[in-house]
Amino acid sequence: MEQNQDSKFEQSFLPMTSIGSGIGISVLPDVYCYTNQIVNLAAVGDQAGFVLIDTGMPKAADEIKEMLAERFGENARPQAIVLTHGHFDHVGSLVELLEEWRVPVFAHELEIPYITGQKDYPPGDPSVDSGLVAKISPMFPNHGINIGNQVQPLPQDGTVPHMSGWKWIHTPGHTPGHISLFREQDRTLIVGDAFVTVKQESLYKVLTQTKEISGPPRYYTTDWNAAFESVKKLQALQPETAITGHGLPMSGEELTENLRYLVNNFKEVAQPKHSRYTN
Ligand SMILES: [Zn+2]
Ligand SMILES: [Zn+2]
Repeated sequence: MEQNQDSKFEQSFLPMTSIGSGIGISVLPDVYCYTNQIVNLAAVGDQAGFVLIDTGMPKAADEIKEMLAERFGENARPQAIVLTHGHFDHVGSLVELLEEWRVPVFAHELEIPYITGQKDYPPGDPSVDSGLVAKISPMFPNHGINIGNQVQPLPQDGTVPHMSGWKWIHTPGHTPGHISLFREQDRTLIVGDAFVTVKQESLYKVLTQTKEISGPPRYYTTDWNAAFESVKKLQALQPETAITGHGLPMSGEELTENLRYLVNNFKEVAQPKHSRYTN
């Protein structure tokens, strides 16, 4: 990557940190959800071995290592990192973490060009919502990072390396190679940004983590038809627990009802009326 791009990425300023920042929730005995500023990452497994799902915001590597040490023991390092997608708030500290950990990184093959410096995402679209986060979204870094050959495509058969019992599910729309992770046994879903439980465009709701089911963050989503299909695909799995890329985890009846509401009202609830990417 170009040096200036690199530093631009590192210096990305975000004037926001939610009240949940720095807080971890043991959603299940082996599934941990941690909030870094405005984004969630997950760690799945135990002290014998775990996988890190997404890597938070830029400059969060030390915080992430501390969080993992607290949960899994000193110098804990994952067996692998799985990326739901390559947006800056999900791969923010990846390069820095990999400097210390020589661990494999897995992503969908359609997302790999954005992680190997070949493609940039379209810039955030401020016209999708009146909320402040949407308005400042063009400031967010949209260029792909480059970790070269350290990233590998997820296995074709749907399995997830080092995560026995889990399958990856292609949930495009928010990005072309977006994935979610599902464990059939207890119907646990790690959603990424295919849908979220906070209205991500609104600064107030992001900061207070007000629970409200929503489609993928609007300012970044480019293919709304695919996004809708992806939400329907996830609803059909009848998840019992969902950890989303933004907002608090949701489970049980609350999750079932909210997902049904989102699917039945997708256009009104999720889709922006005006967007650079809808027409
Ligand atoms: Zn995203
Ligand atoms: Zn996100």
